Amino acid sequence: MRRTKIIATIGPASSSDEVIGKFLQLKVDVFRLNFSHGNREQHLQTVKRIRKIAHEVGFEPAILLDLPGPKIRVGQIRGGFIHLKEGHQVSLCSRQEKCLSGDIPIEIKNFEGIVKPGDRILLVDGRIELRVKKIKDEKVIAEVKRGGILQSRQGINLPDSKLPFPPLTERDKDGIELAFAEDIDWLALSFVTMEEDLIELRDLVATRGEHMGVIAKIERPEAIRNIDRIIQSADAVMVARGDLGVEMGVEEVPVLQKKIISLCHLNARPSIVATQMLESMVENPFPTRAEVSDIANAIYDGADCVMLSDETAIGKYPVQAVEVMLEVIRKTEASIDYRNLAMARKPLGTEVYDALGHAVCMLACDLNPRAIIVATFSGFTAQMVAKYRPPYPVYAFTPNNLIRNKMNLIWGVRPFLAPYTESIEELLDSAIAELKHQGLLQKKDLIIFVAGLPLTEVSESNFIKVHEVE
Ligand code: PEP
Repeated sequence: MRRTKIIATIGPASSSDEVIGKFLQLKVDVFRLNFSHGNREQHLQTVKRIRKIAHEVGFEPAILLDLPGPKIRVGQIRGGFIHLKEGHQVSLCSRQEKCLSGDIPIEIKNFEGIVKPGDRILLVDGRIELRVKKIKDEKVIAEVKRGGILQSRQGINLPDSKLPFPPLTERDKDGIELAFAEDIDWLALSFVTMEEDLIELRDLVATRGEHMGVIAKIERPEAIRNIDRIIQSADAVMVARGDLGVEMGVEEVPVLQKKIISLCHLNARPSIVATQMLESMVENPFPTRAEVSDIANAIYDGADCVMLSDETAIGKYPVQAVEVMLEVIRKTEASIDYRNLAMARKPLGTEVYDALGHAVCMLACDLNPRAIIVATFSGFTAQMVAKYRPPYPVYAFTPNNLIRNKMNLIWGVRPFLAPYTESIEELLDSAIAELKHQGLLQKKDLIIFVAGLPLTEVSESNFIKVHEVE
């Protein structure tokens, strides 16, 4: 049983019926739509296609909509590109009427009011570096520290500047409307800097899409400074290594990845490791050794999910990339002593639900059951059990279709639909019948059953039963 979950980004290379069907047969757990690209209608069609084929294949994945946040971009450069030479000075301007040929146009208002002398301006994923010298005539004059070719619409990162943008842009709001209309399971917010950035989205979700999970993408230096509170306020966290590597320096990424994942464990929040996991497979059918090691390391670090971006969105080998990831997960997980890991984890506080998740895991280690069955209304009890990384299958039953799909993101949890009932016996009987039907349980198997009672509302995990299958 695979425990680490796979997120695949859907784009032009993977939005056909054929590739979506293949991904579902391979049990890609989460389909990610990147709202930085494409329009609402295209994403809507993709969501409908995924759901239709998922229904036919009989495997319902989670769908994640990734909101672009306040990403700054270069405007339309005259001639399409500029060659920036080291040591030269360049002028950047965000006022159309003032931009001369040779200037770098910037697609936001008041750029000259955001940066200050000494700040770095990073272009093309950090490959080009400029340093602000001065502000003159409402333009930013900068020196080229590391040169290269800059093209229209490429991204800009300002790691030293305080960005004055609201956390949700108009484009994000458009994406959120789509998410509500289509019951999307997870929303990821880009460029989160502090806990407060999540408030507006959280409020919207609370009123219009209660089941939806909010993922905080960690990619800004401020987010690292405020990491504890961001993790506590989010439902899951993404180590967005693309922008994080640009803003913090690539050499910081492995250390930050470990730190973020370990804080996520402590707080029982699913963690996602993203970007360039199999980058060479955008062009080639085989991965590099370093990429394979990177996936394995994310698993050793304890990530809940590993994510494919360009590899599946625009790559030449989207299905092969998923197959490679599956194989690396299989091999790596087989090398891990999950029992030892589980025994080493202890709850920090005195919360009942946390102690219960731990107790279930310890009980399992002592009794060696065939499976742990979780009855959960909101998915929370499943998350609490997963926190302790039990070395047994975890089958989570919920009466809510949307929560069932959402739980695909949680480490080691296989979600199922349960009847809506207040009776523990009825729920357990029907869960066992379903698992027997699927060949996952048989007579005399021992199971550990955990639930939050009452079953028909959001409640803390508070019930454990050891049961022999009849
Ligand atoms: C990243 O920066 O690593 C990331 C996942 O975000 P995006 O793909 O939106 O750039």
